[in-house]
Amino acid sequence: MNEFSLIEHFFQSIPSSRQEVKLGIGDDAAIIDVPEGMELLVSSDTLVANTHFLPEWDAFDIAYKAVMVNVSDIAAMGGEPCWISLSLTLPMLESAWLSRFSNGLKTAVQQHHLALIGGDTTQGPLSISITIHGFAPKGTSVRRSGAQPGDNVYISGVLGGAALAVKHLHTESLSFKDKAILMEKLNRPKPRVDLADILRCFASAAIDISDGLSSDLNHICTASGVRAELDLKLIPVHPLVTHYQVNDPIDFALNGGDDYELCFTVPYEKEPFLLEALRKNSIPCYAVGKILPGSGLWAKDKQGKTSPINIAGYQHF
Ligand code: ADP
Ligand code: MG
Repeated sequence: MNEFSLIEHFFQSIPSSRQEVKLGIGDDAAIIDVPEGMELLVSSDTLVANTHFLPEWDAFDIAYKAVMVNVSDIAAMGGEPCWISLSLTLPMLESAWLSRFSNGLKTAVQQHHLALIGGDTTQGPLSISITIHGFAPKGTSVRRSGAQPGDNVYISGVLGGAALAVKHLHTESLSFKDKAILMEKLNRPKPRVDLADILRCFASAAIDISDGLSSDLNHICTASGVRAELDLKLIPVHPLVTHYQVNDPIDFALNGGDDYELCFTVPYEKEPFLLEALRKNSIPCYAVGKILPGSGLWAKDKQGKTSPINIAGYQHF
């Protein structure tokens, strides 16, 4: 097998039903018909061996997660994820690994009705880079920069599970069942695509929590020129974090990355409509704080005392 038969066998064979793809894998570039009245959203995320995953992990999970972290970015903009391209760097050509990888990719693509429209294949240290394209009705995409004093801060889901999995990758201190639950959390993120339409209707700003709530909410504060105050007792912590990290569960929820939940702000007058939409769609979201004039990220503790949060999310450099 060479580079070209590899692409044909493992990637070109992944089916897609997207109408807008006029030409997919096989030429110098793909051709897409962007639907009228839509704006294009483009985002990339890379997973590097030994930084984001261990090379011995199941290739199915690696591919699956590489797609999902990209899907999450489009959901955070209030968009519909549509087309992906894959830049794959492999140390060597290993059919069994590629077959698992291709299956993980196919599963993720089918779950979110995506199309794999192209990519690049090179030899080198294992790394997976995906670029995703999505769309939203023109002028409606949700940015980080729209939060206003008076808005409330919401997050979807519970936090800290993926960070707990990372902490215990090489320990024996979790039960077998709990470790399996946490590894599922780490390796099979469920991006909140079902929130996208709701964000476009009601959110003033949004971001996906990939680096940790403190770091990512702080991005909203900086982009919007506002201050956020989190009420620590309202932050929903993964039950296993509360169970195993008795002394610092909030630290895990605030600073642990890889949760792929969404954080968003909602103007006061839109809240009743937001809550109704969340209830109708059974999406678990929690009000965790408010936006105020000023700058930076602050926390209100159980005694009602407010102090600045030490931002400690994941950074590469
Ligand atoms: P070029 O030499 O023009 O860069 P390539 O030989 O790299 O083209 O790729 C041939 C075709 O296969 C292109 O359509 C490209 O988008 C696609 N392709 C290459 N690698 C991948 C991959 N890992 N996944 C999906 N498509 C790929
Ligand atoms: Mg190429």
